[in-house]
Amino acid sequence: MISKKLIDKLIRRKPFVTLFQASAPGFSRCAKCGLPWKYADGHDVNYTDSRSFFVMCRYCWERATNEEIDKAIQELVESWGTDSGYTLQHYLQCAMMDKAGNPLFVDEYK
Ligand SMILES: [Zn+2]
Repeated sequence: MISKKLIDKLIRRKPFVTLFQASAPGFSRCAKCGLPWKYADGHDVNYTDSRSFFVMCRYCWERATNEEIDKAIQELVESWGTDSGYTLQHYLQCAMMDKAGNPLFVDEYK
């Protein structure tokens, strides 16, 4: 029997990722492995008590370095333009606290 972990690892190999991307035009993707959101669940990072963003799938979030996360968030925030309402520093801080296991904002209704 193939474990979920192995499947998770296998589908993030380039030929598979390319296939998944081709079959999901228009979907944005995990910043680390490139899987479209049609096939991967993003790891939510809360930046207020009711709003969140995601830059990586759950698999990649677990394995990403702080530098990889910082870079992905920077690119996301830049893609939003200048009127997102919060500073880049705020998003980075929320992500680092989440990565450390202490999210700044916990949605009690989830
Ligand atoms: Zn990923």
